[in-house]
Amino acid sequence: MKDGNLYILKGDVNGIQNFIYNVYQGQGGVAKILRARSFLISIIPYAVLKILKDLLEEKFPGKYTLTPDPDVKSLSDKFLINEGGGFTAEIEVNVPDKEFKDFIENFKFSLEKFFIQELQGELGLSLAYVKSENSNSFSEVYTNLEISKKRKFSLYLEKITQEPPILDKAENRVICPVCRTFFKEESEEMCKFCQEMKTLGEKLTKYGNFDIKRQIDEFDIKIYTFKLEKEGQNSKEYFLVLNRSTGKEHHRLITVPVISKNITEKEIHEVKQELDVEELSPGTIAPFELIAEASRGDPKLGYLVVDVDNLGLIFQSLKDKETRKYLSKRLNEFFTFKVSEIALENFRPTEVEVGNKNLKKILDETLIYILYSGGDDLFAIGPWDKIIDFAIAINKEFLTFKKELVSNERLRNICHLVNNLTLSAGLAVVKPKFTVRVAAEWCKDAEDLSKSLGKNRITLFGETLKWEHFESTVEDAKCWSNLVEEGEVPRRFIYRFYKLYLDLIYYPQKFKQTKYLEFYPRIYYLIARTLDKKYRSVATSLVEKTLNENEFGIKIFCNYVLTATRRR
Ligand SMILES: [Zn+2]
Repeated sequence: MKDGNLYILKGDVNGIQNFIYNVYQGQGGVAKILRARSFLISIIPYAVLKILKDLLEEKFPGKYTLTPDPDVKSLSDKFLINEGGGFTAEIEVNVPDKEFKDFIENFKFSLEKFFIQELQGELGLSLAYVKSENSNSFSEVYTNLEISKKRKFSLYLEKITQEPPILDKAENRVICPVCRTFFKEESEEMCKFCQEMKTLGEKLTKYGNFDIKRQIDEFDIKIYTFKLEKEGQNSKEYFLVLNRSTGKEHHRLITVPVISKNITEKEIHEVKQELDVEELSPGTIAPFELIAEASRGDPKLGYLVVDVDNLGLIFQSLKDKETRKYLSKRLNEFFTFKVSEIALENFRPTEVEVGNKNLKKILDETLIYILYSGGDDLFAIGPWDKIIDFAIAINKEFLTFKKELVSNERLRNICHLVNNLTLSAGLAVVKPKFTVRVAAEWCKDAEDLSKSLGKNRITLFGETLKWEHFESTVEDAKCWSNLVEEGEVPRRFIYRFYKLYLDLIYYPQKFKQTKYLEFYPRIYYLIARTLDKKYRSVATSLVEKTLNENEFGIKIFCNYVLTATRRR
């Protein structure tokens, strides 16, 4: 096929954040529906390539090649097609330019139509392509994609003559309480889409593989239908199916805490009595209320966002296409697989001390709920103290990963650039029933703060620290939590320490006053008055650490100890 034209096609799913977090407390179980929505988004790049291949085969049989080929991929390759909410493909096709362009424009139109008619435009896919003629084609396709993002649904809106059927409002239909987007029958618990997502959420932990197909066989379970060209002769339906893995090993589609398969009826009954949770069926995703119970002290959830710094800068300065591809693939692998591995190996409910001792028998797999992870970022939820440890573990593993990267000869000459790849993170600690959307926003704000204060940092409880200082602050906080728990140090010491800090340092600083000189005499007086002799010198050295604000987080320290030692 040496006479063929080569096209680069790039797609990006848009509306991801809004779409994922559009879940409110309802009958479905937020943890399940949320995870299902995120899964659906994560497989869209694969689904689009799969459908594209099917249409290419129909239109230009034997005259095209598509890379990556969605058909010959293992489960891990299926996941890797998603490059953080999008994909890049190369199509070589032996037909006149005009013919191919018409084909792609039609394809774009069908996709826009699907997203508007089936998902009310809540999600969309921006698609751009260029004929690859020189080395600039890659940056050209990026530029075109940016333009296409600004002209969402333009093909659809140009072609459509009557009002688009955005709202399916009709008699006896009311807004769905779970998504607050679609309408449902008054007699139903939730809308059809939420029902589908709930089913998907229930099945995700039980099946080991997925596919997009036009025909379903006996091992498949149909989950969702992509309807392309609903009416007319071109009508096509593609099914998202889950199936059991054929090999011996059970692949994991998602990494989340699940209800143990060994849980007894009696235990389920006890948990339900103690906590306000609806259903607990063995082998399915654990509800957030139960995950929070595995916290130390106060049962709260931690929301974590982690994102790679300086990536755009590095890609811009990398002229070689292959090196760029390699780096982006390796990063995608880190977030897609390594992050899961850390959650499964280091945060097993049996190996981590959990607040309520019974939980060891009730929760299984991991304590970390990974909502998404891939491309160059991740979002996870977990018991507040475990998610802090998880963040630290991710950063450590990332340092190791960078060392591996620069040992590769492709990247050896640019190791100064690779070393600039760091992580910025944001953490938010909230009650388990708190609205997911708001918690996610706080978490994102915290991450923005880490970026704006110099990157390579993490923000928690409104305080931003470099990773190494965050880790040592958390270590101190753990030690002092133990001292408080063992009754060696009164909890009110931490409380007063915090109050003195807020009154004499934090707020005065905020309002540009100088009161901090009063802080030290008063804190030493507090130490002498409330602490046993043998802890006074440790306390003094703790206070000395606060002299260097950039290296010790007083808010992080105090909030940690107070939350960890709060009686249930
Ligand atoms: Zn709904």
